[in-house]
Amino acid sequence: MSERETLTWELFGTASRELAEQVAADGYLPDIVLSIARGGLFVAGALGYALDVKNLHVANVEFYTGVDERLPVPIMLPPVPNVVDLSGARVLVADDVADTGATLKLVRDFCVGHVADVRCAVVYEKPHSTVQCEYVWRRTDKWINFPWSTLPPVVRSAGQVLDA
Ligand code: 5GP
Repeated sequence: MSERETLTWELFGTASRELAEQVAADGYLPDIVLSIARGGLFVAGALGYALDVKNLHVANVEFYTGVDERLPVPIMLPPVPNVVDLSGARVLVADDVADTGATLKLVRDFCVGHVADVRCAVVYEKPHSTVQCEYVWRRTDKWINFPWSTLPPVVRSAGQVLDA
């Protein structure tokens, strides 16, 4: 996979706004935005403001170890969201991309049976995703460079600051 899709910070502003407009136009009024960390945090924050939802939750999921390199299955890391907090709510799950769809499936299945309704909003969805999200800004089969993960960390490992 040589070609890449690049989302700039500026384009992300447009993308998140248009994604929120899709949700609003559909008449879905979420009580809670459940972000999938870390990429989904940016999306959830933007959707939370645009949809006027203040109740934001986080699910920490680890799956990718590099470009197209994954663990055998996605894993939800602690702290796991409390299903009691989600109970009976209309939930909007927010993530940056549905690639294989396994991460969103894990989180969506975690909600099913506990919440009133659960729908997924992503900036990108890839054609092979096993989850078809209700709200998608763009579709691509390329590897996406997101603005938050394009630059390398400014630390070598947690707490070790690199020389400027
Ligand atoms: P999935 O479980 O759908 O395969 O992947 C979900 C997560 O993997 C995304 O939230 C993201 O963190 C990471 N990921 C998957 N595809 C891409 C991609 O094309 N670019 C980047 N930067 N991350 C990706």
